[in-house]
Amino acid sequence: PVDRSPEIQEARLKLPILAEEQVIMEAIKENPVVVLCGETGSGKTTQVPQFLYEAGYGSNNDIIGITEPRRVAAVTMSQRVALEMNLPQDVVSYQIRYEGNVSPETKIKFMTDGVLLKEIQKDFLLKRYRVIIIDEAHERSVYTDILIGLLSRIVPLRTKKGTPLKLIIMSATLRIEDFTENKRLFPITPPVIKVNARQFPVTVHFNKRTPIDDYVGECFRKVSKIHRMLPSGGILVFVTGQAEVHSLCRRLRKMFPHRGKQGAKDDEKDEDALDAKALKEFKKSKPQKKLNLPKISLDNYSALPVDEGDEDREAGGDEEEGSDFDLGLGDAGSDEEEESDSSLPLYVLPLYSLLAPEKQAKVFRPPPSGTRLCVVATNVAETSLTIPGIKFVVDCGKVKKRFYDKVTGVSSFRVEWTSQASADQRAGRAGRTEPGHCYRLYSSAVFSDFEQFSPPEITRRPVEDLVLQMKDLNIEKVVNFPFPTPPSPDALIAAEELLIALGALEEPPKVGRLKALNKAKLSSPITPLGRVMASFPVAPRYAKMLALGKQQDCLPYVITIVAAMTVRELFEELDRPAVNDEEQVTLKGKKARVLQMQKIWAGQGPGQKLGDLMVMLGAVGACEYSGLTPSFCERNGLRYKAMLEIRRLRGQLTTAVNSLCPDVSIFLDSKMSPPTESQVNFLRQIVMSGLGDHIARRIHPEELLDKKWKNGYKTPLLEDPVFIHPNSSLFRQLPDFVVFQEIVETTKMYMKGVSSIEPEWIP
Ligand code: ADP
Ligand code: MG
Repeated sequence: PVDRSPEIQEARLKLPILAEEQVIMEAIKENPVVVLCGETGSGKTTQVPQFLYEAGYGSNNDIIGITEPRRVAAVTMSQRVALEMNLPQDVVSYQIRYEGNVSPETKIKFMTDGVLLKEIQKDFLLKRYRVIIIDEAHERSVYTDILIGLLSRIVPLRTKKGTPLKLIIMSATLRIEDFTENKRLFPITPPVIKVNARQFPVTVHFNKRTPIDDYVGECFRKVSKIHRMLPSGGILVFVTGQAEVHSLCRRLRKMFPHRGKQGAKDDEKDEDALDAKALKEFKKSKPQKKLNLPKISLDNYSALPVDEGDEDREAGGDEEEGSDFDLGLGDAGSDEEEESDSSLPLYVLPLYSLLAPEKQAKVFRPPPSGTRLCVVATNVAETSLTIPGIKFVVDCGKVKKRFYDKVTGVSSFRVEWTSQASADQRAGRAGRTEPGHCYRLYSSAVFSDFEQFSPPEITRRPVEDLVLQMKDLNIEKVVNFPFPTPPSPDALIAAEELLIALGALEEPPKVGRLKALNKAKLSSPITPLGRVMASFPVAPRYAKMLALGKQQDCLPYVITIVAAMTVRELFEELDRPAVNDEEQVTLKGKKARVLQMQKIWAGQGPGQKLGDLMVMLGAVGACEYSGLTPSFCERNGLRYKAMLEIRRLRGQLTTAVNSLCPDVSIFLDSKMSPPTESQVNFLRQIVMSGLGDHIARRIHPEELLDKKWKNGYKTPLLEDPVFIHPNSSLFRQLPDFVVFQEIVETTKMYMKGVSSIEPEWIP
């Protein structure tokens, strides 16, 4: 029996999914696999676990598990469901990369999809679960897809054992053929239940012209106009990344301060206090001598950054033109920036996936009285979270995505037009509580050129980490795996080749013809080294470095370098355009200081040869030495959050290494001394062992045939030159041979994470 508060009960009854409870529970009772579709906000995530709980699932010793592709959703949804059910968080719990509150009492467990994948590696039959809900399946995140493939096999096995497992796949769109029509996946088509959501009409306003590049400025002007001219109602703005979120928040807060200047200051203090608190807690949890770190946590085994996600959606709101809400809100143009106006307080909140959970939670609370809520968000607000009270959506129409070249692996972050489905989903956010308006900062002609849906993630990125995980599950023929949408054969071959080169898979027998060879390669079994690598929570290249790191007491350094290479964006972005002259000066000063610090961190002696990796090592060392404070990071252009994450990952990797090779027994030392000359040489070789296919050779002036090769490097796979970035510590040295972490294309093709190597090391 669940004891809900009257307010909660009332709010629940308004959710469309409540009317379908019986139909849903009946279908689940009758079928091993059920697909449930319903618009965002219809109540799937918060209500279905409650239906199951009340129907007695999770009553004995078994658990109801729900996976989310995003950490944000796993945390906030577990909190929301606990609140709705009036149950403590050790009963309705969550588990994400580094943290969780799962207890022996847990009945409902929200987790990221990666966490569940790791659990399958430990217990293939998932014996502790009675039900698994795969939420946000329409997002088509790689791990969601893999989980559905694995569960399609686990469910029949559990039925055979007489302890059936129920699988519920939930989607915000009706685009589910990849799951239902795929006979290899589910030979018997699972029933599909549709929940009709109450969605109020949303009027879509297109810009007449499409701004060329300054969409953040355009967002700023549009929000300002809405705020000045239109009646009350929350505003939700979609931009592409964290940096834009912050810059837009800053501009809007400055323009419409809600507690005057002092207030804004307090807010910042607030944030510092929070960071300081986090730090204190960390320190408290840090044992004195030998670290007994938390057991290796579960879902961080990919070095690939979590994409902000791009989503496939069905159409959202109506489109009409010419209402009052068009008035003066046409194309905002580049009109002058006005004076700050404290008579119109705007309560501006950022929202993106790396934001601390307690800050994310703010968007669900009502804004201070007399203010209007304005949430500046990335894609996270597109489907996983429903923010109450949003009436106006401002959509820049763009999305930041990482693109990979299938052959060369060169990646670039590109800001691109989103898909039509995604844009409609964004518009739909305005119509949850009353009729709303969506302002698209692009023309309807541009919209009609958008692709209809974005392709699933698994078809767009390298898959060596997945292939290694699958081989570790003894799935040798990965091509035969029941993927909802398979990765391209090229990507699978590239993954197997890399894993063979790293020694994680057995070298296939030599076969005459290429075709036969490829076929043979695709079923290479995992090696003992591969198993060790699979147990580290990082991508195979980095796992290889860890596996070799034992030599010459290099492990603490290797762990630190790997942690630093794996965490996104160590350094603050200082090359960004400044909001105003004042900031321009600050940025310039800071950049000079950071470059100077980097020189110090790279060291004067042999360490220099380790290049950018030495800078990372030095930065982490210096940070730890100073006690890792927000102010130290701020002064030195380091991202405090990244440094905290590196610390956690170092702890985790230390635990992983210690449990694999108890004889080395290493410590997480906050006062790491710089590596010796011979250690530096070992480190360079260890790094090269993971990046052996990422070698570049400098083109010398006497070889120059074409000016574009000046200071350029040649790599085996690319026609065009690649370069060392001016921010790299090796920019002035230009060593003859280097290895790089990756190539990212911005204005040029730049190598990231560069370290020099000796030519005689190259096989
Ligand atoms: P779905 O999963 O179908 O998108 P949800 O179950 O997430 O829907 O949301 C159902 C309702 O619960 C929404 O109207 C939303 O506003 C409300 N809700 C969800 N999370 C919270 C929260 N943390 N605080 C307040 N309301 C919430
Ligand atoms: Mg949901």
